[in-house]
Amino acid sequence: MTLQERDRAVNWHPYTQMKTADDAIPIVKGKGIYLFDEQGKQYIDAVSSWWVTLHGHAHPYIAQRVSEQLNTLEQVIFAGFTHEPAIKLSENLLNLLPENQEKIFYSDNGSTAVEVALKMCIQYSHNQGKEKKKILAFRNAYHGDTFGAMSVSARSVWTKPFGEMLFEVIFIDTPTSENLESLKNQIENFADEVACFIYEPLVQGAAGMLMHKAEDLSELMKFCREKGILMIQDEVFTGFGRTGKLFAANYLSQKPDIMCFSKGLTGGTMPMGITTSSNEIFESFLSDDKYKTLFHGHSFTANPLACTAALASMELLLNEETLNNIYSLTEAHLNFSKILQRHPKVENVRQTGTILAWEIKNDEQTSYFNDIGKLLYQEFLERGIIMRPLGNVMYLVPPYCISPFELQMIYDTILEVLDSKICI
Ligand SMILES: *Cc1c(COP(=O)(O)O)cnc(C)c1O
Repeated sequence: MTLQERDRAVNWHPYTQMKTADDAIPIVKGKGIYLFDEQGKQYIDAVSSWWVTLHGHAHPYIAQRVSEQLNTLEQVIFAGFTHEPAIKLSENLLNLLPENQEKIFYSDNGSTAVEVALKMCIQYSHNQGKEKKKILAFRNAYHGDTFGAMSVSARSVWTKPFGEMLFEVIFIDTPTSENLESLKNQIENFADEVACFIYEPLVQGAAGMLMHKAEDLSELMKFCREKGILMIQDEVFTGFGRTGKLFAANYLSQKPDIMCFSKGLTGGTMPMGITTSSNEIFESFLSDDKYKTLFHGHSFTANPLACTAALASMELLLNEETLNNIYSLTEAHLNFSKILQRHPKVENVRQTGTILAWEIKNDEQTSYFNDIGKLLYQEFLERGIIMRPLGNVMYLVPPYCISPFELQMIYDTILEVLDSKICI
């Protein structure tokens, strides 16, 4: 049996209608920005394998560090025990974050990082004898697939079967200079009852790379601070250089209370989630009363291998070479976005740092058009580039190590495909 046949027999893939989906492509090797299939065909990973890979696949430095750690200590219970990789990673990360972030809570993915953040906020008021139950989130938000994370995400086809079981959330528009006052008025009415406001800063990834301005978000954050509303900044996607700066936080004039990280945290090598908190939140859990404890934990909390991968990835990230690459990638996207803007089949071109997105013009809502994402996906695959359009939204989120030459090849291919008959 081929790998595809064996896969089909046993595996259930994420976000995949298994009845109609094409067979999954078996990947046997990764190197830099490339993935190689069984036949040796190579693909440029232009989506960083679901936005996680920062420095390319199978990076030798991360591999070496993880391999050393694997031979030293692979896992230890993190309740009652600790280890240097977790201590060092916490120290290093806190050094890079807004100065009010002082404690690190480990888990294993972006959704769990969000669950922990929500629990921290709700229990924060509970521990003070208050019950704040309302939660604010942005329209079109995406914060993950576990129940709490789903609840604070937009209601969509993804969440439909669970509709009644998700807790209630107040969804507000993302801020613009025009709607800021009305947003504040909306929130003002029930500000006292709000446990927290959770948001993806600057870029709403899964919604189709929707973007808003840092100054408008800062203004909204300032208002939340004044009203005593706790803020959870979900940097699961935007963290570690994606926005052109190390964190979206670096664009904002206000500080959140809690931050969430995953995806690029380990350079895309291993699953890990982090929730950071201010001392104010942390201290609200300190008590002789056992009931004020944060009763949350995962078997693999602060797994030493994942911590080591994150340490190695952060070292690479802070190298001058990587920072230069992020800068060049941002500049190249900026130049290409000007070309895209003039293209008759393209609209709503937008960019934040290394993230570039645009839409294929939709003059008629035909069934053909609804399938355009899939057609584009297949066309790019055939041409050796992995892109995963979200409906008619196309985007590029490549690993930072992509060379100017490889990037130009992707841009040229995009223009060729836009001019082909797929995009009539
Ligand atoms: C991907 C994502 C998550 C969920 O992370 P997982 O590791 O896939 O559970 C949460 N928030 C944002 C902003 C994301 O992009």
